[in-house]
Amino acid sequence: MLKLYNSLTREKEVFKPLKKNNVSIYVCGITPYDTTHIGHAFTYVFFDVLIRYLALKGYKVKYTQNVTDIDDDILKKAKEEGKNWKILGDYWTDRYIQDMKSLNVLLPTNFVKATDSINKMIQIIISLLKKGLAYKRDGNIYFDVGKFKKYGRLSKFNRKQMILISKERGADPSDPFKKDPLDFVLWQKTKAGEPFWPFDSAQGKEKGRPGWHIECSAMADRFLGQRIDIHGGGKDLIFPHHESEIAESESYTGKAPFVRYWMHTGMVFCNGEKMSKSLGNLIMIKDLLKKYTPNAVRWTLLSHHYKQPWEYEEKELEYARNCINIVKKAVKQKNSSSKKIIGASYFNKFIKIMDDDVNTPRSLELVLKVAKRILKKNKKDEGTLILFLESITKTLGFKL
Ligand SMILES: [Zn+2]
Repeated sequence: MLKLYNSLTREKEVFKPLKKNNVSIYVCGITPYDTTHIGHAFTYVFFDVLIRYLALKGYKVKYTQNVTDIDDDILKKAKEEGKNWKILGDYWTDRYIQDMKSLNVLLPTNFVKATDSINKMIQIIISLLKKGLAYKRDGNIYFDVGKFKKYGRLSKFNRKQMILISKERGADPSDPFKKDPLDFVLWQKTKAGEPFWPFDSAQGKEKGRPGWHIECSAMADRFLGQRIDIHGGGKDLIFPHHESEIAESESYTGKAPFVRYWMHTGMVFCNGEKMSKSLGNLIMIKDLLKKYTPNAVRWTLLSHHYKQPWEYEEKELEYARNCINIVKKAVKQKNSSSKKIIGASYFNKFIKIMDDDVNTPRSLELVLKVAKRILKKNKKDEGTLILFLESITKTLGFKL
């Protein structure tokens, strides 16, 4: 029985999808302007393994990942570099796809750009305005947080914390047009030189662009439906992004919960600090791949449990390289007399480990243990062990 830790309840819960044998999963994607660092890869490689594992368990998985190709950060970067925002976004999106392919990450069922779902965003905003849950001031449209009593339930932050953190993460609580500092932008009026889309409603005709949170609410609804099984992303997205997504989506559909299981990956640190461009401590995947194989990078990432924050250290990649070499050597021992059955007791162990909130570090320990056993030339079960090793390394996304 698969158990997943749900950030909303802060408990490991038995996984029961809304539709039998089917899983819908949405993972917040990149804002394409400085990808792909090891923190991104930690998130997307983990969800890649979760999806492979769900498939192994017989689920039909529908996986949507977005690209936030229009928001403040990308416009700022385009301005700094004197580039067109669209060309800049497409360039970094391609780079991201290349990095993911290098790491053997399977592409989502729907890999979607925010700018392709503007109509859905407008549809939701109009509905929120009609219900009196959003209001318009000075050409902006805000979500009225006071009308959504559950705001703060996911992050469990108090009001003071929420105001402070929203400011740190790009919102403007001091905006004089807001009824409440926590209200967030659903639609913003365009500043000179920025891209815009027409917004038609009974409230007037305005040109503007969507706020960040509404993008994911719209794409989740459009590609997966009004309620979804799993929603994931980095831990820093819990507030205000995911908190606000819940408010928008549940207010729009009238259905709750919008998401059954919220899953968040821990932050990756470097030199004791969160990785950031301004600190100059970003570890980029393309640079790591110059020195290490994709398997070694993947091993390093999966040797940390997805929920735990961790500190990047190069020696882990050296260790991972050795482990991969041992596993490869073990798999090569295969000969024609190998039995065509997978070692059942080990396979059950693997399932038990992965069912416990997708414990990839422990499954890597098992992989290594089995590989070492094969190399000890224990003729009795060598063949079945090799088949086992081939099978589970595939589920973990290694290419041997
Ligand atoms: Zn998102």
